[in-house]
Amino acid sequence: MKPSDTNLLTDQFGRVVNYIRLSITDRCDFRCTYCMSENMQFLPRDEVLSLEECARLVKVFVSLGVSKVRITGGEPLVRKNALWLFDEIGKLNGLNELVVTTNGSQLAKQAMALKKAGVRRINISIDSLNADKFKQITRTGNLEQVLAGLEASIHAGFRGIKINTVLMRGINDDETANLVQFAIDKKIDISFIEEMPLGVVDHARESTFVSNADTLSLLQSKYSLLPSTETTGGPARYWRVTDTSTKIGFISPHSHNFCESCNRVRITCKGELYLCLGQEDKIDLMPLLREHPIDDAPLIAAILNSMAIKPKGHDFDLRRAEPSIVRFMSHTGG
Ligand code: SAM
Ligand code: SF4
Repeated sequence: MKPSDTNLLTDQFGRVVNYIRLSITDRCDFRCTYCMSENMQFLPRDEVLSLEECARLVKVFVSLGVSKVRITGGEPLVRKNALWLFDEIGKLNGLNELVVTTNGSQLAKQAMALKKAGVRRINISIDSLNADKFKQITRTGNLEQVLAGLEASIHAGFRGIKINTVLMRGINDDETANLVQFAIDKKIDISFIEEMPLGVVDHARESTFVSNADTLSLLQSKYSLLPSTETTGGPARYWRVTDTSTKIGFISPHSHNFCESCNRVRITCKGELYLCLGQEDKIDLMPLLREHPIDDAPLIAAILNSMAIKPKGHDFDLRRAEPSIVRFMSHTGG
């Protein structure tokens, strides 16, 4: 996306921030093994931003030049009245793109309403097309329900639908080509995300890590792939599958240095503004929202000042015994 000329959010390295990812809940109806531990402790309700606070924050960011907003979580669509927030954000002038990342469990019921609210693109996480394997990975998920959600989204007519898949060696890496073929058959896109060391989970991540370089070679032996110049200013590199409408994305925080074109910041469901997914630099916006319920000036000043502490890049290392970042992806928002 082209940075807006009016964007006031420029960091110390000259990178323009025009994209926010907002986690609206840390809760989820699934417990994916790479994302959560079996017994997660979720935040008390009063420590989570209200939907009104979320709407106010997004409005302020858009007034500062942000043009793309992704709503994520936890599972954003299990939050009560989440659709109200999508409606509010969808009405904002200056916003080009409202998108959502979901596990798909609620889409059979909500896809049409999301489309009406102005959501243009939707990412649905599917790590396996085998119902038992899907259950094993998500611990509580139901593949049939997610596939019904995907069908409802296709039917609702989103401009872009993409599957997100985390491949794990010996668990679901044998499904790589099947998942791509599924995306081709459905005329949608698919991205492979390398597992990131976020939060303490119940397996050794290094033992299951699959590099996107290996996944790409495997797929090149089965499909004719053309590199695409498309970029989101993030860690994804895209390839087109020739003679199909499908693009394959590779989200490779380990294999590529994407940080120099980083255009995004993340806001957790607690109102923490993280300047980088892989670093601890943050500021707390919740006190400003609550101490100044009407006046946006202190909030705006803090957001503008935060640009000075956006780090140059992340520092992931799967070989460390400790996770690089102690917070879970479901807390920061994927
Ligand atoms: N619940 C929604 C979902 O699953 O799509 C949205 C939140 S989830 C945290 C967003 C994305 O992060 C999902 O595609 C998930 O597969 C990915 N994810 C979670 N933990 C991860 C990790 N440790 N490494 C890489 N990707 C991860
Ligand atoms: Fe929930 Fe998404 Fe994390 Fe899976 S990846 S546990 S669906 S937040």
